[in-house]
Amino acid sequence: MISSHRSLAQVLLALGIGIFAGCCCGGVIISALVAQPAVVGWVAPSPTITATPLPRVFATITLAPQATRTATPAPFLPPATSPPPVTVTSVVTATRTPIIIRSTPYPVMPHFMLARPVPLGADRTIPAPTYLYGTTSRGDYDVHHGEEFVNPTGTQALAVGDAVVVTAGNDTTSRLCGDDGKKTCGRDINYYGNLVVLQMDRDFNGQRVFALYGHLNRILVKVGDRVKPGDVVGEIGMTGIALGPHLHFEVRLGVNDYTHTRNPILWMTPLQGRGALAGRLIEKGALVRGATVNLYRADPETLVYATETYSRDEFPPVNSDDEMNENFTFPDLTPGDYIIRIANQQYATRITVEAGKLVFVELGSP
Ligand SMILES: [Zn+2]
Repeated sequence: MISSHRSLAQVLLALGIGIFAGCCCGGVIISALVAQPAVVGWVAPSPTITATPLPRVFATITLAPQATRTATPAPFLPPATSPPPVTVTSVVTATRTPIIIRSTPYPVMPHFMLARPVPLGADRTIPAPTYLYGTTSRGDYDVHHGEEFVNPTGTQALAVGDAVVVTAGNDTTSRLCGDDGKKTCGRDINYYGNLVVLQMDRDFNGQRVFALYGHLNRILVKVGDRVKPGDVVGEIGMTGIALGPHLHFEVRLGVNDYTHTRNPILWMTPLQGRGALAGRLIEKGALVRGATVNLYRADPETLVYATETYSRDEFPPVNSDDEMNENFTFPDLTPGDYIIRIANQQYATRITVEAGKLVFVELGSP
């Protein structure tokens, strides 16, 4: 499947960043070597910034306290080294007049009920920015049904809450998911390799919540085991279709199968001191697929992140949140003011990110 994609070098060039070639469900991903906060994007040519101040448009919600856990540093990691931050300066010209289409705060229900699936001392505790849930890495890969935590083989994969193990095994030749243990776990068999699925003790709106760990090097739990936050369920690896070591982390709502995924960024409590952003881009009331969403730090505007709105998948689709109906997200942002701009469109808005909170915005034409 890689042969049908652009070459790694082309992708690196297109991203203007580069560095790590990992793998994922469907192809190679590129993960920028970014210090936290993640900074990634495209280099623009001029430092001139003439953005017009925008009205603030946001809805915030207060979260439940972060679940406590006692994760120990992964013993398999090499000595901690700080990758060079990738700082990208961008430009917003005066001709890009921002238009706020809708400014009504949207009432979203918080459900940051999961902890981080990797140790807080791991190399990457923030999902890989170039292949977030619902995106395709600009058309190179399958629509992504989870988030990638790119870390070396052997890094611990941790339980994200109190839960019971409902799936633990290798899907190379077997269907292991569903209540009967006979449904396909991924897009097909031989997808996630060694995988674990937890069913959380806590339901959400009467629906069961599952957490899936894919491409594990080793599985360290068995079906029926009870786990608590921070317990080690396995080691990160590159089994299944993975081409490099990383954890594919997935959240499923209601049913433990590939058609019931949700965006993990809406379920994992943000890292300490960080906040999250979710939004919806619509045209004539319908979600816009595959649009580029650029996120800038405000004052002065500096591009810090670029993602895509959820793309349409042939089968199965990725799902928006039942309450939010979002089609883009950004994880673990440093608090402060940001401006969201939709590439090649006039839609833009300004928001404030607060630690421990989720900001939700809507852009487009109703
Ligand atoms: Zn993945």
